[in-house]
Amino acid sequence: MSEATHYEVVIMGSGPAGLTAAIYASRANLRPLVIDGSQPGGQLTITTEVENFPGFAHGIMGPKLMDEMREQARRFGTDYAYGEITSVDLSERPFKLMLDGKKELYTETLIIASGATAKLLGLPSEKKYMGYGVSACATCDGFFYKEREVFVVGGGDSAMEEANFLTKYATKVTILHRRDEFRASKIMLDRARKNPKIQFMTSVGVEEILGDGKVMTGVRLKNLKTGKVSDHAGDGIFMAIGHLPNTKLFQGQLQLDAAGYIVTKKSTTETSVAGVFACGDVQDSVYRQAITAAGTGCMAAIDAERFLERVKAEQNDLVRQE
Ligand code: NAP
Repeated sequence: MSEATHYEVVIMGSGPAGLTAAIYASRANLRPLVIDGSQPGGQLTITTEVENFPGFAHGIMGPKLMDEMREQARRFGTDYAYGEITSVDLSERPFKLMLDGKKELYTETLIIASGATAKLLGLPSEKKYMGYGVSACATCDGFFYKEREVFVVGGGDSAMEEANFLTKYATKVTILHRRDEFRASKIMLDRARKNPKIQFMTSVGVEEILGDGKVMTGVRLKNLKTGKVSDHAGDGIFMAIGHLPNTKLFQGQLQLDAAGYIVTKKSTTETSVAGVFACGDVQDSVYRQAITAAGTGCMAAIDAERFLERVKAEQNDLVRQE
């Protein structure tokens, strides 16, 4: 990171949205600063092969794709700062940001690409066995469950997708869902139902992740209709119960929707504060794809560039009038 503290564009987050914004902003000579955030490279760095990003006919590994994007943005003059933004003040421009609670940064425009984080059940035993049977990413950890029996929690498209994926490795996958009805799309649900390795348990809640102190050995389930509690052996459990947008810093400063996603104006990446733009999963609860994140990242950089041009033009007009 350079010694500069004042920027035209600061981009929070270094997933596909943030890095695409950086490629466009740096090619527009805005010399953006990308703040890496808690997971440099974003969610794709914890996936294996990405098969649906256009341009890679034979797929590309998630971390490799992110390394390439990072390098591409650097080539045009993007600067990177390792660390996290710990506070923001969006009440006036330049906006004030605090990096790791130590360094003050000022920026004329802010592009928020801080993404979303997988939701967890919130059980102490879930925390205890995280990485030792408990996972929130089938594509990252599925490989470790060859010839094992696993559970997937959730009733949405993610749960169906993860369950299907896990049957590549596991001998048996049991989907645990808290209701009888599924939120998943019909096609995804049908695919899971037709998969002979997948079983369903509905109207169940996960009471506890059981283990031997080192690794998980099973789950304690509660039938939510009868109240009956029962233990079931298993080697892994994958949480697929949705995501939470990383927007805590912006509460009370930007308009958020009921689920906490940043609200952007139709067909733009503009937020409720002029000069602040949002792209990627932090403002998208519907598509959540690398390519849609990249697309909105491009939009955010173009929106920021146009905003800066407009502000400069207005300032020039004022000077001429004086
Ligand atoms: P989702 O649609 O919000 O589904 C989350 C599921 O988890 C729901 O079934 C929900 O149960 C359950 N759940 C939530 N909190 C829970 C808790 N505390 N305990 C137990 N269960 C809980 O999330 P998603 O499946 O991640 O999908 C998000 C979006 O991405 C959707 O628009 C989806 O279509 C899209 N997506 C698409 C694809 C694809 O097309 N390939 C793949 C993945 C995701 P309830 O139903 O009872 O609320």
